[in-house]
Amino acid sequence: MDGATTTAAPVLILLGPPGAGKGTQARMLEEEFGLVQLSTGDLLRQAVAAGTDAGKAAKAVMEAGGLVSDDIVIAILRDRLAEPDCAKGVILDGFPRTTVQADALGALLQDRGQSVNTAISMDVDDAAMVERISGRFTCGTCGEGYHDTFKPTATAGTCDKCGSSDMKRRADDNAATVGQRLEAYHAQTAPLIAYYERSGALSRIDAMGAIEEIASNLSHLVTKVTA
Ligand code: AMP
Repeated sequence: MDGATTTAAPVLILLGPPGAGKGTQARMLEEEFGLVQLSTGDLLRQAVAAGTDAGKAAKAVMEAGGLVSDDIVIAILRDRLAEPDCAKGVILDGFPRTTVQADALGALLQDRGQSVNTAISMDVDDAAMVERISGRFTCGTCGEGYHDTFKPTATAGTCDKCGSSDMKRRADDNAATVGQRLEAYHAQTAPLIAYYERSGALSRIDAMGAIEEIASNLSHLVTKVTA
């Protein structure tokens, strides 16, 4: 990648279809680099659980595997980005997902004297995504992510990290909805790869290997672009 670096707090984007490992890798980068993971999916799920107006509007769209309206998502992201902890720098996971959102992000960052350091395309085969998504679950207490095949807990039903037995599976992680989510990705989000390539901010990473191997490659990349 060349250009688009900034001396302000880093802004990294993880781009990739559902199941590419954005959340898993964002959490690892968060710990390693002291950045804040911003997942619009998590923020929307919190809004749905809290029964806010945005959550009520988003619920059915999320259950069907479509994209929530740009207005709602941009407002949620803008409010979260304004919180003090984000001054350390952020990893955007699942945002932007449309060119309207990418333009809005650019404007929000410009107002803050920041810009996107790099948008990292996590390159994967679609065919493998359904298996990856249908086996995943998360600790409801600490948020650690697991997978039935690729990253099981050491003791069945117990979080390795915090010991909780409150494991959760997402309502939209089922084969029918995954197809819709992949379709939405290709129609509306994949064009962002060319969008960030044009601005010189695109990086690519092979995201088909083992979690630790991908994490190590990402770590080198992030070290380079935030130096
Ligand atoms: P995720 O957790 O990123 O897989 O997102 C779960 C669901 O939330 C998606 O399938 C969308 O319905 C919705 N969503 C999350 N982020 C966005 C976004 N940036 N734009 C539109 N919808 C989103």
